[in-house]
Amino acid sequence: MPSRHDSSGLNRPLVPGRTCGSCTLCCKLLVIETLNKPRNRWCDHCDVGHGCRVYDTRPSECRDFNCGFLTLPQLDEAWLPSAAKLVVGLEAGGHTIFVHVDPDRPQAWRAEPFYSRILDICLPRLYDRIVKTPNGPHNFRPRAWSGPLYVPRPTEG
Ligand code: SF4
Ligand code: SF4
Repeated sequence: MPSRHDSSGLNRPLVPGRTCGSCTLCCKLLVIETLNKPRNRWCDHCDVGHGCRVYDTRPSECRDFNCGFLTLPQLDEAWLPSAAKLVVGLEAGGHTIFVHVDPDRPQAWRAEPFYSRILDICLPRLYDRIVKTPNGPHNFRPRAWSGPLYVPRPTEG
């Protein structure tokens, strides 16, 4: 099955061989403003486990989104979002990595290999970005599953 999303968007090439397959998890975890779809609720157009019922007319927010599983070669097959219960997203420009956690598995990000991978690969870029915000070091602490996840460096608890 081809990728459900285009390879444009963040201008990152797809990892060869990576496709959405039967995954539809971003259609639950992400906000789609055009559709007034809130975070962590399935889109009304989603055929869960199959794809988008309005694929040809889906909003640009959907058309332009490629998750980290599709675009980051550092993430292996274990990161298939529907199995991992995590959707990795990059802020436009690719300077910040978000890990969206399925509320049905709020501790999924703590399991291995995910936690170590977040720290080893994702965090340095996240850290560089977040440390410049006016909100202070508390931004390094994990948030609840209902929002973007910020993971601390081990030395920061
Ligand atoms: S979470 Fe990633 S792999 Fe799953 S449907 Fe969305 S873009 Fe495709
Ligand atoms: S419109 Fe389609 S691609 Fe976009 S969130 Fe809904 S089901 Fe997913």
